[in-house]
Amino acid sequence: MGEAKRRGTPQQRAEQARARLEALRPAQLVCGACKTAFTTFDALPAPGMRGIDAVFGGQCPNCGNDVVVFKGEPQAVADAMLAYEKMMGADAKLGYQSRDGRHVPFEPGGEKTPGESDK
Ligand SMILES: [Zn+2]
Repeated sequence: MGEAKRRGTPQQRAEQARARLEALRPAQLVCGACKTAFTTFDALPAPGMRGIDAVFGGQCPNCGNDVVVFKGEPQAVADAMLAYEKMMGADAKLGYQSRDGRHVPFEPGGEKTPGESDK
């Protein structure tokens, strides 16, 4: 009997995916609001986000903000953060991992469209 081809069971594939995420996982997240660094966070699914390798998120133990970081191509990360911000509103603190592994908080600085107040 010939050795069956190793396709990898779903379990193996899940493990590979997890190993890949573990490799991408930053040592810590840093809260964009209060700059607290913390290490309790999870990998989040990033379905259909092109150029995004991984998303990690957790709750700041100090101020309770949701902290989400994206890893991937810089342009894709920027797009993802903007999309996420729109989706979540201003509550989530976003950031990304720089190439040397540092956490960089995303600070949307005054780019909001100026006064569209027609009331
Ligand atoms: Zn915080």
